[in-house]
Amino acid sequence: MSADQDKARMIVEGVAEEIKSRVRSSAQNPEAIRSFRERLSRLEDKVVEECRSSLPQKYRQQIQEAIGAEGLRALDPDSLSARLAQNRRHFAGIIQRLAVLTELYRYSTAEAQKALCEVAGLQRMQAELIDSQVDHVREVEHLEDRWRQGQQAIQIMLASFEEAIKRILSFLDVEQMEVFLLDDDQFLATELKTDGKVFIYNKEEEKPALPESVHEVQIREVQEAILEMPLVVEGRQIGHCRIQRPITAGFDKAQWKTDVAWMMPVLARVIQSNHDRQLARKVYIDDLTQLNNKRKLNEQMGKLFKQFKQGQKKLYVAMIDIDRFKRLNDTYGHAVGDEILKKTAALIKEGVPNAYRYGGEEFCAVFYGHDKEATLEKMESLRRRIQETPFMISGQEYRVTISSGVAEFEVHMNSVMDAIDRADQALYASKEDGRNRCTYFEDIKGRLSADHNRLRQEILQLKEKIKELTDMEQENSVLRAALGKKKKSPSES
Ligand code: GH3
Ligand code: MG
Ligand code: MG
Repeated sequence: MSADQDKARMIVEGVAEEIKSRVRSSAQNPEAIRSFRERLSRLEDKVVEECRSSLPQKYRQQIQEAIGAEGLRALDPDSLSARLAQNRRHFAGIIQRLAVLTELYRYSTAEAQKALCEVAGLQRMQAELIDSQVDHVREVEHLEDRWRQGQQAIQIMLASFEEAIKRILSFLDVEQMEVFLLDDDQFLATELKTDGKVFIYNKEEEKPALPESVHEVQIREVQEAILEMPLVVEGRQIGHCRIQRPITAGFDKAQWKTDVAWMMPVLARVIQSNHDRQLARKVYIDDLTQLNNKRKLNEQMGKLFKQFKQGQKKLYVAMIDIDRFKRLNDTYGHAVGDEILKKTAALIKEGVPNAYRYGGEEFCAVFYGHDKEATLEKMESLRRRIQETPFMISGQEYRVTISSGVAEFEVHMNSVMDAIDRADQALYASKEDGRNRCTYFEDIKGRLSADHNRLRQEILQLKEKIKELTDMEQENSVLRAALGKKKKSPSES
């Protein structure tokens, strides 16, 4: 039992003892009984007096009788002391119960206190849990925001360049953006502006809705917010960018700056990868005609030739050359020549699946997976189309024709050049036969071998002639020697 409980028990027992002793002493003290009796009779008199002065007459008798008969009997000293003796036991019981109740009260108070502490602790824990839950939710929200932003960034970076720029402009809520790129020598952006390497992207202008009626002149003043930011990719500054937007109602400058700061690396990457793509394109694209160049052809053909050797598909190559182009150049000038080259290249690109500028006014086309008929048909319709298409340059009309030669790749060939050479021979046959035509190598093979035989014959004849000449020369030298001797003899003699 705790000290508190002991103390409570002592207090309760002391109170009980006090009550007992008072009851005991008042029951045995005649003086107390007498004063009690006196006080009672004074009370009785007072009640009678009260009744007399303020109660209606008909109740006075009844009340006096009631108090007089019952009250006096109950207050008889003998019956009182007997009752007190009887009540002493009753008091003892009450005191005991009181002690138990006090104990219970104290116990339950302590328990309640403990419970209160626990509740407070639990409440604190609950508050902490709620706080941490709130933090957690915020963290989750933050992460979700970051994830959404990351998704958005990925979407932007996966989109085409134009689409990416459009999305960035819309995200930043700006109409226009100026991007100044530095080149590898880190030239100033302003320098780049003059040589055309600055990009200015305009969001499509949205026409403001016309109000139904305007009754007075309205001037709206808009202030602009301008932001300039460096563009950094992998720690290297590639340039900088400037954007501006009107300061409208509800424009949150701080939020805008945060958005811009978040978007800048995405923009930098989009710009950089577009720049890289353009550079890579430059390596393989012919500037004048925008066709793939010979370097691209060589790389493609290397891969395609391997694929062809391992597979079942047929592979054809066509060499194309513009007819009498030098004359055109000489007559109308190089600039017109260039324009004609561009226009011819565009038609070739449309007409055949894979076209390349081979060099000068020569082109190459590759047909993979097409049969011979389809290949020749495509080449023939390209020839017709070029012949029939007038080129308008500075209001003047020009026409050109093309000659071409087609050869098939064969598995025993050692190199791509074997087929290209054959196509070239077929092209020259087209030229020989009067131009503006397409020749298939197999069709002129006989002619070529006839040419070859003729050439061999000629070589043999030449060789024989040379032999004859050498023999003659030898004979001559022998004769000269003999003659020389003869001339010498007479002098000797
Ligand atoms: P053919 O029918 O035999 O092919 O006659 P051709 O005059 O076309 O033949 P040739 O190969 O002798 O001449 C090709 C000319 O193409 C020579 C050159 O001046 C011109 N040329 C080559 N590249 C370009 C170019 O990029 N621009 C211009 N304008 N002319 C070019
Ligand atoms: Mg040529
Ligand atoms: Mg030519």
